[in-house]
Amino acid sequence: EQLANQIAAGEVVERPAAVIKELVENAIDAGSTTIDITIEEGGLTLMRVVDNGYGIEASDILTAFQRHATSKISTSSDLFKIASLGFRGEALPSIAAVSRLSCTSADTDTGLARQIVIEGGNVTVNEPANAPQGTDMTVRDLFYNTPARLKYMKAIQTELGHISDYVNRIALAHPGVAFTFKHNGSTLLQTLGTGDRLQVIAAIYGTNTAKAMLAVEAESSDYELRGYISRPELTRANRNGITAIVNGRYIRSHAINQSLLQAYHTLLPINRFPLAVIELGMHPSLLDVNVHPSKMEVRFSKEAELRMLLEDAIRKVLGKQRYIPGP
Ligand code: ADP
Ligand code: MG
Repeated sequence: EQLANQIAAGEVVERPAAVIKELVENAIDAGSTTIDITIEEGGLTLMRVVDNGYGIEASDILTAFQRHATSKISTSSDLFKIASLGFRGEALPSIAAVSRLSCTSADTDTGLARQIVIEGGNVTVNEPANAPQGTDMTVRDLFYNTPARLKYMKAIQTELGHISDYVNRIALAHPGVAFTFKHNGSTLLQTLGTGDRLQVIAAIYGTNTAKAMLAVEAESSDYELRGYISRPELTRANRNGITAIVNGRYIRSHAINQSLLQAYHTLLPINRFPLAVIELGMHPSLLDVNVHPSKMEVRFSKEAELRMLLEDAIRKVLGKQRYIPGP
């Protein structure tokens, strides 16, 4: 069991950003409206995610750290229509196997809080606690017991970069959640949770950028599309500014990127890339999220329809624009 957890950990937890991703997605799945993320030293010494979600019932808290103990799928056919962000029940035991993890949670139903501490997979504390509704997951000393893994960690700035990139995108995906993100005591991101995505864009990319975004909206029989794309004069030198969100999940999709760029490049030089936040909604059965264990890359079963929708919508919005090459 311990070994299985360490093996799974290698897959789920490749670096601090992967831990943040799992903890934050659990917080979102728990219906949280505020999520506070605090890290130190690029996440290597401390990662803390505090949410105000529905919590984990005291009697279930140990179970949550057992392998495949997801509360999110009940039958195997559910696997085909996964709506919540988590579904494998592997994240928590994996993280707990390679760190010192403390979880304090108070659930909505009973209001009772409990804390457990797990160090390298061994439970060292399991007792009643005092805590507000929600969950506090604190992960210290990631990979302290797997030195070979630790050796592969890059500079603090690199690990911070990965975490920051993820936090920005999940905040873009969830404008209704108020996020704060702190590194070594300084606040790197704060969103208001008002549901206004432009406000999140402003918090990340600056107010001027947010003002210069164009709204896109379209729908076909199977897909709903909305989001923002940058005016031609705001394009960038690489494609990192593209954020795709599918059913509330920040994902990577070759199909979405290709369509977006195809539409852009009928107007723009091919060495310029848009800043774009594209959100798609669809029936979960049209979506295959099991392509990659980290749940990032997805496939669409009606890809041609999706690409057409996206390309048309973007061409239509950009059609009213003119590209003026910079000096
Ligand atoms: P999964 O998300 O795939 O279900 P995890 O290992 O990430 O698996 O989490 C295990 C279980 O712990 C979840 O199914 C959920 O019931 C519970 N849980 C984890 N984090 C939270 C949280 N922040 N708030 C409420 N419940 C949580
Ligand atoms: Mg999860």
